[in-house]
Amino acid sequence: MDLDTIREVVVARERADLGVLGGSCGVLAGGTFLFSEPQERLERLVDITTLGWPALSETHDGLEIAATCTLAEFAGAGPGRELGTPVLRAQWPGTALFAQGCRALLASHKIWRTATVGGNVCLSLPAGGVLAAVIALDGVALVWSPDGTDRRIPLREFAIGPGINLLLPGEVLRSITIPTRSLLARTAFRKIALSPLGRSGAVVMGRRERDDRCALTITAATSRPIVLDFAEPPSAAEVRAGIESIDPSTWFDDPHGAPDWRCHVTELLAQQVSAELHVEAGAQQ
Ligand SMILES: Cc1cc2nc3c(=O)[nH]c(=O)nc-3n(C[C@H](O)[C@H](O)[C@H](O)COP(=O)(O)OP(=O)(O)OC[C@H]3O[C@@H](n4cnc5c(N)ncnc54)[C@H](O)[C@@H]3O)c2cc1C
Repeated sequence: MDLDTIREVVVARERADLGVLGGSCGVLAGGTFLFSEPQERLERLVDITTLGWPALSETHDGLEIAATCTLAEFAGAGPGRELGTPVLRAQWPGTALFAQGCRALLASHKIWRTATVGGNVCLSLPAGGVLAAVIALDGVALVWSPDGTDRRIPLREFAIGPGINLLLPGEVLRSITIPTRSLLARTAFRKIALSPLGRSGAVVMGRRERDDRCALTITAATSRPIVLDFAEPPSAAEVRAGIESIDPSTWFDDPHGAPDWRCHVTELLAQQVSAELHVEAGAQQ
């Protein structure tokens, strides 16, 4: 839709162009959310897709994903895919969650090619499938502050409520780094929705690292992402205790599922994910 409050769109070429952000000036990435409903408080947008950030870069401690990486680029970066980029490796099984996270959200071909990783993370919706994947892989956000400094936020702490996160006015999510230990981890994924193509009612993603540490990440069912950590693959009783430890007011209530249903199905999905993580690596094929 046309945004008739917008007076100017700034095409960013360098970091200094982001200095105008804040107040009535907002970040424009893929625009798939921004242009889907009125944005009454915004008068100016800064397009960050023109900054030329490489979508995926291997670093000394993992994989850096630019905020402007599209869902198509992110989903295409899984193991065994035709990568089109030199950085993805077949021995990074953890990247399987990239495509699974993207498919957990309802997206047309057009959104798939336009929407960005950063846009999904910064929207911080409970059903944010990309946000869920980068949390499940213990990603860390690199945030550019308006005063020229940087800060890093573990993504498990980033979203604090539906559509609410720790970004301050004028801040820009620059990238997300997935640590090597998560790229090397085995993962499992379960999603449920009230209808076959419906928005996620509950999503559980599991990660088992090479030293057997495990994490279960719960999204869509809760108003903010919840991570349950375990020193080794958890027993059924430990999974149940983990679910029971979640504050009852955290179970999300919207037309895509009632809180009691979400709590119930989340435990079922978490038990399935945990069972999959219990299977030893060599026995998976
Ligand atoms: C039909 C439809 C169905 C959808 N279904 C789902 C769904 O099931 N689950 C789900 O999670 N989402 C869903 N969405 C929303 C989806 O998350 C977004 O469309 C997309 O992921 C946002 O990416 P974008 O690049 O288009 O962001 P934009 O629309 O450009 O921006 C989204 C918001 O994030 C801010 N932002 C973007 N990038 C940055 C950055 N780097 N730093 C700081 N702020 C930034 C923008 O200012 C804006 O507030 C749906 C959208 C549509 C239109």
